[in-house]
Amino acid sequence: MPTNPYAWVEQSLATIHRADWYRSVQAIASRPGATVLLEGREVINFASNDYLGLAGDERLIQAAVAATQEFGTGSTGSRLLSGHRELHRELEVAIASLKQTEDALVFSSGYLANLGAIAALVGKRDLIVSDEYNHSSLKNGAILSGATVIEYSHCNLEELKTQLNLHRQKYRRCLILTDSVFSMDGDLCPLPGLLNLAEEFSCMLLVDEAHATGVLGATGAGCVEHFRCSDVPLIQIGTLSKALGSLGGYVAGDSALIDFLRNRAPSWIYTTALSPADTAAALQAVRIIQKEPERRASLWRNVNFLKQLIAQQLPNLQLLPSESPILCFPLESALSALKMGHQLKTSGIFAPAIRPPTVPTSRIRISVMATHQAAQLQRLVEALMGNC
Ligand code: PMP
Repeated sequence: MPTNPYAWVEQSLATIHRADWYRSVQAIASRPGATVLLEGREVINFASNDYLGLAGDERLIQAAVAATQEFGTGSTGSRLLSGHRELHRELEVAIASLKQTEDALVFSSGYLANLGAIAALVGKRDLIVSDEYNHSSLKNGAILSGATVIEYSHCNLEELKTQLNLHRQKYRRCLILTDSVFSMDGDLCPLPGLLNLAEEFSCMLLVDEAHATGVLGATGAGCVEHFRCSDVPLIQIGTLSKALGSLGGYVAGDSALIDFLRNRAPSWIYTTALSPADTAAALQAVRIIQKEPERRASLWRNVNFLKQLIAQQLPNLQLLPSESPILCFPLESALSALKMGHQLKTSGIFAPAIRPPTVPTSRIRISVMATHQAAQLQRLVEALMGNC
């Protein structure tokens, strides 16, 4: 008796709805910035990863337009065939300079950089130990690699050590994976402790600097620089789509590592090279980050000002521990997070609800930008006072 092999899709969607986990898109109808046009009205934007306000910067736009005029819209092939332009190499050299590494390799997204690097570095005979709160791209990279994967509790060095003591010697190579700034919490990985364990157990360490590049460290190199570990061998991944205001990803590290990835990372070899527009915009962003440290200073001034306002005016609001521009406050259910997100939007504040399965517990996630005005941060706190 034939049954519809696709019937399960609607049933699964119904289950997603029942759990209040259903997601849909909302269209922004303006340039990115501290305020955006959403559903026909201007809202203050606390939902963006554009930490330095560069995605709408005229200089990035002009760089993208000029590159499009010169090289066209598409790169027309993979880097090893017809897709490579001198612009890609310039961007890689600029990223290596920002990250203080020997070399860098640009991928078409941060997600692809993680998939490709992890799949190239380890295989069936190897072990991956991974923080339970790591980004989806690290988790899926681990699955793609075919290595044995063990998760340790969030930032728990003792548990990581126990796992390494129990399992390390059974495997050829071992790779420790961690976000540096945890994207849905805002806290930092315990990098010095991770590096010590990596050395003790002869493991490679890969840190995902997606939310740290341009944001943390004396020169904006990221969390690795923040912890003064820039001269230690490790594998740094990042994205061009957050503080760099463009699209694409990168791996930064020593020359041999980068050379190896050019020969072995499947998501670099078998995908079309980053477009000229995205490449040129990201290159302009790296230059601006290096030339204009005051943008990073404004970002941190805003983060500290907002934390201070919350502590003074909302003493009962519990923020999750954060050392980044990502500030989250937990809510008891997916439904209450959704309701809060809607109420904030009605008050002119765009701050999304983040729900399972993205995170174990629901929350509102606020991300601060360098270009927020003090009055906009005050408006956020007033809206929270009205709704909490
Ligand atoms: N890693 C982390 C920690 C992220 O938050 C993201 C983006 N959400 C990525 C990787 C993927 O980067 P991209 O958007 O460039 O694919």
